[in-house]
Amino acid sequence: METDELLKFISQENDRLRAYHSGLDEDNAPLIQTVKLNEEIGELCDTVLAYDSLQRSKKLAEFEEQEIEDEVADVIITTLLLADSIDVDIEEALENKINAVEERYE
Ligand SMILES: [Mg+2]
Repeated sequence: METDELLKFISQENDRLRAYHSGLDEDNAPLIQTVKLNEEIGELCDTVLAYDSLQRSKKLAEFEEQEIEDEVADVIITTLLLADSIDVDIEEALENKINAVEERYE
């Protein structure tokens, strides 16, 4: 998937979410999406614990490795939805961060 395609999906998804959820508007979207991001990170933590066999037996019996991919995708998408809501240019932000990380090793 190309970055342009992903960011177009994110913009469309934010529009759809605001149309379907009457309580979600431009004013409160950042707070709601930040809480949602925390929820998704919790779900990712849950699957990583299962992946490392550190969950209770009932959860381990139900665990499928595909769940980790799903939760990583949820975290990335929710992060991008939040970035879109607060007008973060994600390509520029990532480029700046990658350059800063690379400079640490020079
Ligand atoms: Mg999830």
